Amino acid sequence: MVQAESYRYVFGPVMSGRLGRSLGLDLLGSRVCSMNCVYCESGRLERLTLERKPYVPAAVLLAELAAWEAARRAAGEPLPEVVSLGGLGEPTLNSHMPAIIAGVRRILPGVPVAVLTNASLMTDARVRAELAGADIILPSLDSLVPEEFARVNRAHPGLDPKDVAEGILRFRAEAGACRKDSQARPTRVFLEILLVAGINDSERNLELLAAFCNRLQADRVDVTTLSRPGSEPAARAVDQAVLARWSARLGGQAGVGAACPAPRVAERAKNGHIQGGDMLPGEIRSRILASLARRPQTGAQLAEALLADKGAVAAALAELLDAGRISLRRQGGQDYYQPRTG
Ligand code: SF4
Repeated sequence: MVQAESYRYVFGPVMSGRLGRSLGLDLLGSRVCSMNCVYCESGRLERLTLERKPYVPAAVLLAELAAWEAARRAAGEPLPEVVSLGGLGEPTLNSHMPAIIAGVRRILPGVPVAVLTNASLMTDARVRAELAGADIILPSLDSLVPEEFARVNRAHPGLDPKDVAEGILRFRAEAGACRKDSQARPTRVFLEILLVAGINDSERNLELLAAFCNRLQADRVDVTTLSRPGSEPAARAVDQAVLARWSARLGGQAGVGAACPAPRVAERAKNGHIQGGDMLPGEIRSRILASLARRPQTGAQLAEALLADKGAVAAALAELLDAGRISLRRQGGQDYYQPRTG
């Protein structure tokens, strides 16, 4: 199996509930984002910004992707079902995003390109035009109540939730217009709403988001909650009944999952996609370390994300614990593994 973990900006493939077998690209290379969400799983934010620049230059990232693809071909492995642009922060901050999308299409022709975004820069017409080059965008919008938006997303001071919502609506309208002109399939929109108990699960937010969803007519709406520790230990998941009620109201699907930008892991790992039996122990360990560098996870979550056998993952985790490479954190009644620091 190709070890994406030996690369810096290419990771996976992992199973994503919304996208399938997804190869991830990190467009930031460090924790740079326009938000600092309480549920973020990517670790402590280094820089809160709206500044666009080539945080990871297209040439560097695409050279890695080309190397990954050459190794995949040599190993005779299947293509990923999708390439997801995301990473350790907000991918639209990378001003080389259009070149990266074009490069992915060149290196992996026929593989759909998805962008996991917090939608903050979709207020900008240029960013919307760039996103229209993708096959799928997955914007998140957690609250239209300004005080809740401030608490849950802790966004850059220049951001207003109404403007962000308007940007997503405009994108939808513009993508539709694009279809008439070019006959090309318009970019699909998979909206994600992540609920944090006691913060953005209010009835007021539900009503505002219901009106928004009614206008947006997204291809898919996912109502989710935390499945792993976020950046704030006090951030708690809502229960399944709340998810189901919101989902029914918003015309969506309920689930738990990772917040953006990391693709959600999913039930599909149970469905004939387990590949861990093919992996050598050293390879499982390196994949686990790379995955934990992005977010803490339980053993079961790792097995799903890596498409690996649970027993093989458990054995590798025990070895990594013994070697002092990782540590355990108990939270919400579950054991989460995380990289050892210091
Ligand atoms: S969850 Fe997404 S938008 Fe929020 S801080 Fe993390 S990377 Fe940024």
